Amino acid sequence: MSRLWELTAVLSVSTNLAITSYILYNLWKTRWQCEESDEPEARVLMFPDGGYQCNYWTAGHCHFENCTLLHHKTNKTRLKELLEGAVKSINVCMFVLSCAVLLDALIEAHRKGVTVRIVCDNMKISGSAYKITEAGLDVRVDNSPSMMHHKFMIIDKEILLTGSYNWTASGAAYNRENVFITDEKYVLDQFISEFEKLWVTFEGSSEIRYEAITSCDVIRNRFVHRSNNKS
Ligand SMILES: [Zn+2]
Repeated sequence: MSRLWELTAVLSVSTNLAITSYILYNLWKTRWQCEESDEPEARVLMFPDGGYQCNYWTAGHCHFENCTLLHHKTNKTRLKELLEGAVKSINVCMFVLSCAVLLDALIEAHRKGVTVRIVCDNMKISGSAYKITEAGLDVRVDNSPSMMHHKFMIIDKEILLTGSYNWTASGAAYNRENVFITDEKYVLDQFISEFEKLWVTFEGSSEIRYEAITSCDVIRNRFVHRSNNKS
C-alpha cells in the first residue's frame, strides 16, 4: 500500500514538474517571439491615409491658426521613423525625390554617421532635393534617356521598402500608392544586388539638374486649394 502511495506521489510530482516546465517554456517562447516581432517580416503602407500631414506639425509646431492639414502620425511619418532608426546604412533608389520631410530625415541620418547613398533619375529630382547635395550626401544620377524608375530603399541591409510611392508630397497626400516592407532575405538580397549594380553603373554622374520648384510647401498650398474647392 505504501509502495502504491509512493508511486502515486512520484507520478504526481513528475506530472507537476512537466506541466510547470511546459508553462514556463511557453511563457519564455511567447516573450522571445514578441521581441523578435519588433521587426516585421512584412508590412504594407497604403497612401493616401487620411490626407496631407502638416510639415510644420511634423517639425514640432504649426503656427497656422486654422490649419486644415493633419496633425497626427501618418504613413509618411512611419517612413520617416524607419529612416531615423537606421544605424549603419541607407540605400535609396528613387525616381522622384522632392519631399522635404523624408529628405531631412536622410540628411539627419548622414549627420549621425549613417552611410547614405542615393540613386535617382535626372528628370525627376526637384524642390527640396537640392538639400541632399548641399549636405554632402552621395548621389548618383541616371543621365541616360531612359528612366531610373525604381522606388525602393534598403535600411541597414536588413529592411526593404518598395512599391509605387515616390518621395513626393503628392505621393503621400492624394495619389493612390503603396509601400511594401519586408526583411525576407531572398527578396532583400536581389534589391541589394540591384542597388549595387546601379551604383556602379552611374559612377561619375552626380550632377543633378533641378527642375522648376515643386517643393512640399508649394504642393501643400495646392492641396489646401484643392480641399477648399472640394468643400
Ligand atoms: Zn498645421
